[in-house]
Amino acid sequence: MADTIVALATPLGRSGIGVIRLSGSDSLRITRILVGNQEFNPSNRVATLQKIIEPGSGVPTDDAVLSYFKAPKSFTGEDVIEISCHGSPVVLRQVLDQALSNGARLAGPGEFSLRAVANGRIDLSEAEAIRDLIDAQTMAAAKQSVRQMGGEVSHLLQPLKDDLLGAIVILESALEFVEDDLPDAQTESLISTLFKIRASVLDLASTFKAGRLIRDGIRIALVGRPNVGKSSIFNALLGSNRAIVTDIAGTTRDQLHERFTIGDIPISLIDTAGLRDTEDVIERIGVERSRRTMADADLILVVIDSSRAITDEDLSICRNVEDLPHLIVFNKIDKVDRSDPAIGDNLVLSINGSNANYHVSVSALSGEGLNELKEAIVEPFTSDESSGKGFLISDARHHDLLVRTANEIDESTGQLKDGNSEEIVLIGLHNALRFLGEITGETTTEDMLTRIFSTFCIGK
Ligand code: GDP
Repeated sequence: MADTIVALATPLGRSGIGVIRLSGSDSLRITRILVGNQEFNPSNRVATLQKIIEPGSGVPTDDAVLSYFKAPKSFTGEDVIEISCHGSPVVLRQVLDQALSNGARLAGPGEFSLRAVANGRIDLSEAEAIRDLIDAQTMAAAKQSVRQMGGEVSHLLQPLKDDLLGAIVILESALEFVEDDLPDAQTESLISTLFKIRASVLDLASTFKAGRLIRDGIRIALVGRPNVGKSSIFNALLGSNRAIVTDIAGTTRDQLHERFTIGDIPISLIDTAGLRDTEDVIERIGVERSRRTMADADLILVVIDSSRAITDEDLSICRNVEDLPHLIVFNKIDKVDRSDPAIGDNLVLSINGSNANYHVSVSALSGEGLNELKEAIVEPFTSDESSGKGFLISDARHHDLLVRTANEIDESTGQLKDGNSEEIVLIGLHNALRFLGEITGETTTEDMLTRIFSTFCIGK
């Protein structure tokens, strides 16, 4: 039988309430020690007020509300007791220590959810949704997680699994009767079934782009030569004075990283140290880091000072990002005489690259053009409306498994068309079924579960 686990379910720190959760067959025995009453017999799913007692002295250390969820109808499927103490770190520590010294073990990351999966209370995708809900950065991401928590992934996959299993059964039974090949009509119908399953799997996989965007957002790197106004744009987008703005070139040596949202989309913005050639060792490290940040970014904002002539350095930066997704931001338009033909379109043309079409003009100082900049940032990511109001796959693990499923089905369909033996065709279909099962956890190995739950936090 599994041991009894305990963890603080709320963040450590001073707060109104701090919740300690116990799960396992010893939960009630341990709780009786905590409340100093061997007769304590809480009713199932009823909250009761109890004094927490310091063992030895018998002195009360808190008034707590205890909720008992009797196995198997609890979150984990085991006996669960939640103890809502006052959020005093010393009291919470004492309760936790008492539980540990009386036979409970500190829960590992996500271990409550893991037990819920192991005991069939929820499936793996639902457990992952709990993690995603807690980590959600926007309401849109939270709403998608709640849908997944309600079993939407499993509901979408079930008919596909049923159809796949149907196809497998037909092929398996054909194997039994070796002398008969599948009749042509049946092969045709199998091919069309497999084709439909594959299309549905790919449809679901295609929602990942929008799903990932809502969950993880867009990573943006700001680059440009010193003094063009990167830090000012960074602050203007953020609406705060996070970055240090100075007019001494090369002051932003360290990278600044902030999160904000544009509409429903989380944005992670990194102001880089710039890319100029430098003898300064610290700055050189910064430049190296900028290059890496740029390579990892979903979008690079190249900032150009439109009040000055384009320099070789500007052009060299533009060349550096040529093959990466980027947007050119002409800053300081407040300083520009717009009637001057050397400014505006000519400036754009002098940037030489075909991608100079992707540009916006702003003034970090006056705020002009900032809304256009925000729109231009999200536009390439939101233009493809695969999302609609439907459910979105937002987990890279799920996406990967869906793509692998589609590939296996594709392979098998090809073999079926080529008239290969059922045995060969079946290999891919069994793999496909296993991959779909891995999404919801039916066919997930112990190793993989450990890896997935290590991304959870303790107490979940
Ligand atoms: P960075 O080195 O690229 O990060 O540039 P900063 O943001 O530190 O800005 C350099 C200088 O340009 C500062 O004096 C800013 O006040 C000024 N600056 C930045 N943006 C604008 C702008 O839109 N208009 C004007 N007139 N000055 C700006």
